[in-house]
Amino acid sequence: MTMEQKLRERIVEVGQSLYQRGLSPGSSGNISARLEDGWLLTPTNSCLGELDPGSLSKLDWNGNLLEGSKPSKEYFLHLAMYQKRPASGAIVHLHSSFAAAVSCLDGLDPTSCIPPITPYFVMRVGKLPLIPYFRPGDKALAAEIAKYARTHAAVLLANHGPVVSGNDLDSAIYAMEELEETSKLVLLLHGQKIRTLNESQIKELCETFGAKWD
Ligand SMILES: [Zn+2]
Repeated sequence: MTMEQKLRERIVEVGQSLYQRGLSPGSSGNISARLEDGWLLTPTNSCLGELDPGSLSKLDWNGNLLEGSKPSKEYFLHLAMYQKRPASGAIVHLHSSFAAAVSCLDGLDPTSCIPPITPYFVMRVGKLPLIPYFRPGDKALAAEIAKYARTHAAVLLANHGPVVSGNDLDSAIYAMEELEETSKLVLLLHGQKIRTLNESQIKELCETFGAKWD
């Protein structure tokens, strides 16, 4: 099996897993992965629980379809992130409930919309900027994502949901799950006084585990 075939199979597996756990209801959410000669993306209006490895969309670096089904309308989110993050091998975008709920809270810090409440959030996700609201399909969103993508592995789209990159597909999924679980904690703790990790605790994580928080 070629690398590309393996990656196609893995996208189908993780899509099923996300769908079965209720993280990508209906036809929401999309998954992409970098190839040597382009990149793969889940097709438009596809349910992540019912993907077919052979009909995933394969695109070039200008967003043109090379083969497969018509790509997700949100392809440009992925493209904007890959273009600024040459080391990222995969990107996941979901409308998962808890992260989407946080994205609707008023008064979030746009430079860091989820506080550093656990070491795992700091290590796996990092500082999370909030991207302003754009209507679905508005390509101006790509320019906003591009502003942060070089320095941040993940962003939260206001009133929409998260976009998370990783070195490979599995690490992007783990980071997305960490973000979803941390969003749940943020909502459980909403309105309560939270003790976040302090500067020296965050510095220690950066030095020990290579976490990034700036
Ligand atoms: Zn979306």
